[in-house]
Amino acid sequence: TLHTVPAFDRIGEENAFAVLARATVLAQSGKDIINLGIGQPDFRTPDHIVEAAIKALRDGHHGYTPATGLLACREAVARRTLATTGVEVSPENVMILPGGKPTMYAAIVMFGEPGAEIMYPDPGFPIYRSMIEFTGATPVPIPVREENGFAFSAEETLALITPKTRLIILNSPANPTGGVTPKAEIEKLVKGLEKHPDVAILSDEIYDVMTYDGEVHTSLLTFPSIRDRLIVLNGWSKTWAMTGWRMGWSIWPDRLYNLVRKLAVNCWSCVNAPSQYAGIAAIDGPQDDVDKMMRAFDRRRKVVVEGLNALPGVSCITPKGAFYAFPNVSGTGWKAKKLASALLEETGVALIGGPDFGVLGEGYMRLSYANSEENILRALERIEEFLKR
Ligand code: PLP
Repeated sequence: TLHTVPAFDRIGEENAFAVLARATVLAQSGKDIINLGIGQPDFRTPDHIVEAAIKALRDGHHGYTPATGLLACREAVARRTLATTGVEVSPENVMILPGGKPTMYAAIVMFGEPGAEIMYPDPGFPIYRSMIEFTGATPVPIPVREENGFAFSAEETLALITPKTRLIILNSPANPTGGVTPKAEIEKLVKGLEKHPDVAILSDEIYDVMTYDGEVHTSLLTFPSIRDRLIVLNGWSKTWAMTGWRMGWSIWPDRLYNLVRKLAVNCWSCVNAPSQYAGIAAIDGPQDDVDKMMRAFDRRRKVVVEGLNALPGVSCITPKGAFYAFPNVSGTGWKAKKLASALLEETGVALIGGPDFGVLGEGYMRLSYANSEENILRALERIEEFLKR
């Protein structure tokens, strides 16, 4: 018989993909499905980006690139980082990877082993915990609470650090809650982290420019005191509607950069060349389409929050970032996952139960508003009808 190693039994899932699969089956059987489940923009990648990839292919860029990414692409990331954070980073610290997830994987396998503790947000992106468990390290959830606007509490976070803590994962603006941690709280957190120089930090900033109401994201890069142990995850997937291109970047301190480069050499060699040319065009080209997308998200955000708060037993705080709402559904009398699955089966509205994002997700659901205003309104009507039954 085949003997697979136990670590693979500990790998989890991202339930959003399972919900998408079920919704697709229901749609194929003729059911009218409204998908508020999946975490990807419902926009096409802007044309000038697509054209850059086509040109790269026609120009013969068909081979391997350096494992760290094309220098021109890493330079583009450095320019973009300077523009969004005011911080100068060297292209020698920039790594191009096939999406945001490989940075997560690299950082977690670099620090995770039995006996080590890794802290991660709960509710949070499910892959953090899954990969921590894969390494055999102990996952330590950092509570992210509704009464805090789903921001990190510096005090509560710092209190969880022990001598075994190796890595702490932060994410703002956040999936699944849309929470944005205010600058003052991040400053407090960094002050506290300065007392723990042996703890590495992975800051997932993939939604960095996706904020609303004048909210400004504070990058951990702006704190020189922690730069020598800070990994910043970012990428093209969300901002430029490029989830299928598999393009991410991350910024690594000198002493870790060679390790992630070697991992790339062993695992994927490099990101496909035409995608990297597209990535350069995305950063250097006009941002009108990004602005247009964000204005659409902002309008829908208001529609979603207003609609949710009008539902019986449901309340929803206004998310400040990303493109998710995380309503509190505990007043409906339903368990969140049961409600999500009943809504899909009986009304055709796909969304994700909060427990798929951690134990503190019970009582909540995640709605992605990456869908048309019209569909969002139709979905809200169906949910209302269902809850009133
Ligand atoms: N980080 C967060 C917080 C996300 O929500 C996502 C995607 O859903 C990712 C990382 C992964 O992005 P990618 O599709 O580029 O791997």
